[in-house]
Amino acid sequence: MALGEPEKKEEGGAHYFQVGNKVVIPAVGHLFGLKQATSGSYYPVFEVEWAPTFEINKRNEYARKYLENLKKFADVAEDIYIATDYDVEGSVIGYNILRFVFNREKAKRMKFSTLTKEELLHAFQNPIELNKGMIKAGLTRHTLDWYYGINLSRALTHSIKKVGKVFSVLSIGRVQGPMLYFLVRREREIRAFKPRPFWQVILKFRLKGKEFEALYREKQIWEEKRADEVVRSCEGKKGVVKDVKKRVVKKNPPAPFDLTSLQTEAYNLFGYSPKRTLDIAQSLYTQAYISYPRTSSQKLPKQLDLRGILKKLSAQKEFKELCQEILKGEVEPHEGKKKDPAHPAIHPTGEVPKKLTGPEKKIYELIVRRFLSCFMEPAKRESISLTVDINGNEFLTSGSRTLKEGWMRAYKPFLKLQEVEFPEVKIGEEIEVKELEKLEKETQPPQRYTQGSIIKEMEKKNLGTKATRAQILQTLYDRGYIVNKSIQVTELGMTLVEALEKYCPTILSEELTREFERKMEEVMQEKIPMEKVLEEARAVLREILKEFKENEEKIGKILDDALMRTREEERTLGKCPKCGGNLKIIYTKKGRFVGCSNYPKCKNMYPIPRVGVIKKTEKTCEKCGTPIIYVFRKGKRPFKMCLDPNCETKSGWGKKQ
Ligand SMILES: [Zn+2]
Ligand SMILES: [Zn+2]
Repeated sequence: MALGEPEKKEEGGAHYFQVGNKVVIPAVGHLFGLKQATSGSYYPVFEVEWAPTFEINKRNEYARKYLENLKKFADVAEDIYIATDYDVEGSVIGYNILRFVFNREKAKRMKFSTLTKEELLHAFQNPIELNKGMIKAGLTRHTLDWYYGINLSRALTHSIKKVGKVFSVLSIGRVQGPMLYFLVRREREIRAFKPRPFWQVILKFRLKGKEFEALYREKQIWEEKRADEVVRSCEGKKGVVKDVKKRVVKKNPPAPFDLTSLQTEAYNLFGYSPKRTLDIAQSLYTQAYISYPRTSSQKLPKQLDLRGILKKLSAQKEFKELCQEILKGEVEPHEGKKKDPAHPAIHPTGEVPKKLTGPEKKIYELIVRRFLSCFMEPAKRESISLTVDINGNEFLTSGSRTLKEGWMRAYKPFLKLQEVEFPEVKIGEEIEVKELEKLEKETQPPQRYTQGSIIKEMEKKNLGTKATRAQILQTLYDRGYIVNKSIQVTELGMTLVEALEKYCPTILSEELTREFERKMEEVMQEKIPMEKVLEEARAVLREILKEFKENEEKIGKILDDALMRTREEERTLGKCPKCGGNLKIIYTKKGRFVGCSNYPKCKNMYPIPRVGVIKKTEKTCEKCGTPIIYVFRKGKRPFKMCLDPNCETKSGWGKKQ
């Protein structure tokens, strides 16, 4: 639309646009992918070639028409402008079309970070050259991931087939291995953790009409006797303020968002998975409301016309006042350290959103408020710590309050501040002891990672890239290696790592993955050729796979056992209310039902839906005592129900429908 009034053309279900003598053809993601150039399911396999995605997988059939549309212009095109996202993936998409459809190596490249009309037009009128580094880095990553994916998946599947009780396809990727290993180590720490009891003494007191709590100086008292002594020696004694410390802390505005910090914040505030946040941000980007989200930059460069964006943003009622206030002064953003040569930090474009979904609205507001915060003054918070003495026993408490709001005014809806205000007190002042309480607690195991914290950890460890981390995490869930929001490794995930750790540890090596990550970075900077990295990868994989092949049967045995246990576990839905045995899904030629493990002694059984995936909930029905199950059916909402068809919770069923 930026180029003029477009005419939409549609052929065979695929569309493109004509604007005067120019055509704009969408590429719907990757039109070319990698596939094996030879046949046979052997490994190691490194014979690979690029082919149209619809030839590789039937699922990609829709892409055929788009490719044909492009081909129509192969001979008549004069100038070609590549306008895919300016990043590694976008560069690969564009370059593959250029070389395989147009038979060329050169084209003009549009570089932009937002999809606003002005920026697109500017990018079109001032095209740059293709970024060879990005293209090469992308081709390297695709090939490397293909090498790893296909070879490891074949090795694992072969090993299971060799032992051969259950048929299963197992897979592990180049980055997934080290990442899963990392999660497994935390899981082991948690399982090995032995909690240790300790005691705390809490003082509840009144000061100038308000109630407060303070904690005995020793935060963990290991012997109960000691805790009792503290309580006893305080009984009936007066309490006085022994010390008051005040401190004023300046709090600078936060840096504007890069992808990881946006994903972490959205997880903490709304519970959105990193993948979901990225999808929402991508949608806001394609609607031209925010800038390109796959960035690691925390900078807002001067070329951005920040004043212009703020002026446009002030058209929205809720931001109007803040924008006007910022525009009165010098518009100087507070920035973070991280940089990205391709894109600035995530920021609003100023375009007024027309219609946003609930989640889009949340992420949009978060990004705008974060952006506005960057231009505002530091906040000032006062923290007070108070020491109370009772008969030589010291109790501590603290609180803080805001003295000056500064940027917090913009970011307020997303701040979780604890405001505890103390009245003015002097040393020596008496407090009114209300109660002394002894609490029994125990030490806690290390915390599980959440989807928010694991993404941050991966970035710190330089595993994966900003664009791929969310997907890698999702893949671990999809393959059943991890479950839950507080990430828990499943038995299958644990066993896979155990087998690899024992017989083929290189697959799990964080260092190796990081090293390839570094090398791809060097390919991007055109410091080393792509072929050199691929050659090294082939050498490493040959080594790994040789090791694997030697232990194929042992690995297969371990995995097969784990798979059997997992299936058995999935099949078990809960306890039989009649005899206490296990209720299991039984498959027959005619279909399936739920029966009791004590059959033939117990003949208890229940029908279950003919189609759909059944999963246990670990809950039982309050009315009939049978296990409650989840039923997932394609294209329908999953629902929960108990097993007994005659249960009173189902009395209304069938009537409503
Ligand atoms: Zn039974
Ligand atoms: Zn019931």
